Amino acid sequence: MAISRSENMARIRSRNTTPELRLRKALWAAGIRYRVDYKTPAGRADVAFITKKIAVFVDGCFWHGCPRHYVSPRSSVDFWSAKLTENVERDRRQTLALEAAGWQVIRVWEHEVFESADTVIAAVVAALDGRGRGASRREVVRRVEEVTPDPCIETRYYELLRDPSTTRSETGPRITKKWKRPK
Ligand SMILES: [Zn+2]
Repeated sequence: MAISRSENMARIRSRNTTPELRLRKALWAAGIRYRVDYKTPAGRADVAFITKKIAVFVDGCFWHGCPRHYVSPRSSVDFWSAKLTENVERDRRQTLALEAAGWQVIRVWEHEVFESADTVIAAVVAALDGRGRGASRREVVRRVEEVTPDPCIETRYYELLRDPSTTRSETGPRITKKWKRPK
């Protein structure tokens, strides 16, 4: 699988993607004012509240290991597996570094922006009010292993973003349905 690093990075976190715009619109409609694409001590936040030190990231379901929508590609398995590990580790480092610097970090899956915007807004409001839960309970897919090719059975390994020692796994039919943003 030939994929350039710059192309890859652009896909991971491109500016002004539809999920980010959706989030901003929902925040705006809720009367919440924010900074966009703000350079935090650990990377650019999609949305930030500077005086309260709150950083919000909208994470793509495939690239960042959404428990519901990560689909393990059938080809170049090692490449994609390493890519997922790399992305999860980067999200972890970034989250912990920001928290260590006194920031609250809110990580939102792209599907949530469309399917449960109210919950996302509530999480932001809670953080603004000092009642935030942060990214501590967020679960991610760490790896997927094929158990049998036919029928398609896989084991999915999950862990908490902030604490990779908290893990669980599930074995069941292969998940093939990628999340697609509504038109
Ligand atoms: Zn998802």
